[in-house]
Amino acid sequence: MTSPRVALVTGAAQGIGRAIALRLASDGFDVAVSDLPHAEEALTRVRKEVEARGRRAAVAFADVSDAAQVARVVETAVAELGRLDVTVANAGVAKLESILDTTPESWDLTFAVNTRGVFLTWQAAARQYLAQGGGGKLIGAASQAAHRAAAALPAYSASKWAVRGLTQAAAQEFAPHGITVNSYAPGIVNTPLWREVPEVFQALVDTIPLGRAQEPEDVADLVSFFASPAAGYLTGQTVIADGGMIFS
Ligand code: NAD
Repeated sequence: MTSPRVALVTGAAQGIGRAIALRLASDGFDVAVSDLPHAEEALTRVRKEVEARGRRAAVAFADVSDAAQVARVVETAVAELGRLDVTVANAGVAKLESILDTTPESWDLTFAVNTRGVFLTWQAAARQYLAQGGGGKLIGAASQAAHRAAAALPAYSASKWAVRGLTQAAAQEFAPHGITVNSYAPGIVNTPLWREVPEVFQALVDTIPLGRAQEPEDVADLVSFFASPAAGYLTGQTVIADGGMIFS
């Protein structure tokens, strides 16, 4: 009998990360979910939702910009669930601010979570994949802003372009080890990320050709594909799924 497949999702307490964790559980993965310590209550709920799908779950807290904390998350996933096969570096932050308004601190925070966080999460996961053998999947959160920058989101757009670059580099480094690397580039997704700016969210939704906001489950569909054997020949791609707003 083959070992159960195990996935790790960061930023899993809410929004897209939660939807991905639940979708992967429905797909048959045991799932380790991770987020910041302040999200403990929500993360515990996600853990129960994974278990309600008949899968095992593990919970680990980390700031994805901290290398030691991220390494401990991978250690916890492996200690509690036995191995690691799919890693989704989903945690991210976004702040609407012009270049003129962006402080160096705000710029650094955006890159610390969105870019360094993906790098550290993939690095720790890849080390585990190489140690256990047999390949694996690295998946990252980009954005449509990784293909066409948003004027109101300069730091965010740049941080997501960097994820797209890292996706291409990582795909080449890890291909010889049977590890594929792909990122998802959603459009305007109905999550708490937009809570502070509902009018901006609605104005953007009104421009979506498919005529509705993207739901977290729409993103989870794409990640489910990335995580599946059907995506075995796909690597180095940052795939736009945004209801037809922009084209690659
Ligand atoms: P969200 O704000 O609803 O959830 C993000 C989660 O990440 C939260 O649970 C938060 O606690 C966690 N997080 C934040 N900083 C962290 C850190 N330093 N360490 C660990 N966890 C941290 O966001 P979302 O809309 O679900 O977005 C998920 C990902 O998808 C992000 O990378 C985001 O940039 C990307 N994305 C979102 C949209 C959208 O429209 N919502 C569009 C394109 C891309």
